[in-house]
Amino acid sequence: MTVNLLDFDLEGLTAFCEQLGEKRFRAVQLFRWIHQKGASRFDEMTDLAKSLREKLPSVCTITPLPVLSRQDSADGTIKWLFDVGDGNAVETVFIPEDDRGTLCVSSQAGCAVGCRFCSTGHQGFSRNLSTGEILAQLWYAEHFLRRHLNSPERVITNVVMMGMGEPLQNYGALLPALRTMLDDHAYGLSRRRLTVSTSGVVPFMDRLAQDCPVALAVSLHAPNDALRDSLVPLNRKYPIAELLDACLRYLPAAPRDFITFEYCMLDGVNDQPEHAQQLLDLVRRHGGRGVPCKINLIPFNPFPDSGLRCSPRAAVLRFGQMLNEGGVVTTVRKTRGDDIDAACGQLAGDVLDRTNAAKRLAQRRQIIEQPVRVVGRGPAPVKEGQA
Ligand code: SAH
Ligand code: SF4
Repeated sequence: MTVNLLDFDLEGLTAFCEQLGEKRFRAVQLFRWIHQKGASRFDEMTDLAKSLREKLPSVCTITPLPVLSRQDSADGTIKWLFDVGDGNAVETVFIPEDDRGTLCVSSQAGCAVGCRFCSTGHQGFSRNLSTGEILAQLWYAEHFLRRHLNSPERVITNVVMMGMGEPLQNYGALLPALRTMLDDHAYGLSRRRLTVSTSGVVPFMDRLAQDCPVALAVSLHAPNDALRDSLVPLNRKYPIAELLDACLRYLPAAPRDFITFEYCMLDGVNDQPEHAQQLLDLVRRHGGRGVPCKINLIPFNPFPDSGLRCSPRAAVLRFGQMLNEGGVVTTVRKTRGDDIDAACGQLAGDVLDRTNAAKRLAQRRQIIEQPVRVVGRGPAPVKEGQA
């Protein structure tokens, strides 16, 4: 099988080049061509020795993921569906804001954790993505956006591992991908602009702290074990106290001095004042001194058959106010890309799904009694195969 150079961080690429009898600086050159310039052909790499340029195509490739579709939201959000073979697809979402451009990247096709409120979880687990498949999402999006927006500068300034899958259950492939995102010869992100979101895979939170301590978001969703067990099944293995201990161990290495807790607001399930009070007690008292944190309330994005509804706007605001008044900085996440099903937890990844966006949107309108925020509904999502 031919080697795909997207599978390597710089260390891996250096080892590969050494096997070919090439020095480290050649690996740096190659790495820069691939990730900084978006090259996919060796004959473009004009400053490589001609002999190497001619040798490379027989031993390796730069193979991106095929794009199945692209949808553009009225609010500027762009969602791609990438083919990862065997009928599986993963989604990647670009979210532009005034001062940054964030890419939400997938780590697995499906997810084995099976959270009740997550459509990826409902879909089950297909397989881990390789390093090359994780990086191909960023590689493609960055270079597409530079052309699309006619930008000589970097467009993607932040990456969040919040697409499909549980990144810390695919640690082996994740780590070289993160290192490449941080590498100055590639995407040059700072550690605080790269966030790993986890449902709480405790042993790998410790590994990440040692190997590559980027910003950490922890999907909490409940203030007690009984409720969290029912929402995030992984809680039965790593209950809240162990999870918060792991957060405390992570903090000394973290690029920020707080952990972000994500909390999906579910009507009548976890959104009552007593839940807010329990949550406050938990994060202010755990381990004696509490866990330095910010809380991000995510309005639940409904999907068919979830049996759940988003909390009414007033309940979300009341919940947030209680937490803020209790001294824990809390924000409500804006819903982006709603008209193209690009919001959290809507990344179903079924190839057939992409043709049904309009139908599902209509269904959702009936399901949601009180939408939290409806992003300007533009024209029907644009579908296209090629950039
Ligand atoms: N597996 C990781 C990262 C991917 S999920 C994790 O769980 O953290 C990214 C975020 O989207 C998580 O906080 C997750 O809880 C949230 N999410 C999942 N489904 C959602 C939904 N239907 N509505 C709102 N947020 C959802
Ligand atoms: Fe997996 Fe995260 Fe969805 Fe839970 S919320 S099922 S961990 S992707």
